[in-house]
Amino acid sequence: MLERDVQNRIMLLIGTRPYLRIWRQSVGVATPYATVQAVIRLLERGDPAGALGLLSRARVIKFGVPGAADITGVFACGMRVEIEVKRPGGKQSAVQVRFETVMNSMSCLYVVVDSEESIEDALCKHLDACPECTDRKEWNQ
Ligand SMILES: [Zn+2]
Repeated sequence: MLERDVQNRIMLLIGTRPYLRIWRQSVGVATPYATVQAVIRLLERGDPAGALGLLSRARVIKFGVPGAADITGVFACGMRVEIEVKRPGGKQSAVQVRFETVMNSMSCLYVVVDSEESIEDALCKHLDACPECTDRKEWNQ
């Protein structure tokens, strides 16, 4: 199973829990859309060298925080949660481990999960220790 598949399953599983709000947290690099359109026009005109030249000079936009978890959110009690998703057997990168250290130092719940079972275990540990979130456990949206 791919990491993306695990992530989608987890988003579907916990995305509507009344004690938790989560959202995707993307990290990466992008090329502006106008540049991509210009590159496509050059390729359509049969100018791959021009397209490569334009791409090599193109501005890039970095977004997100390096090492940030795949999913972030907040519990009803106010605690931040960071969920790093791995395919079964996957490992964190060094920058992800540094991000985890920072989050843990700020009393955030940071978890690395590779399945629906592992996210359920992590959420249960929080609920067992948090009356405020447990009170909302059975609420409808
Ligand atoms: Zn809580």
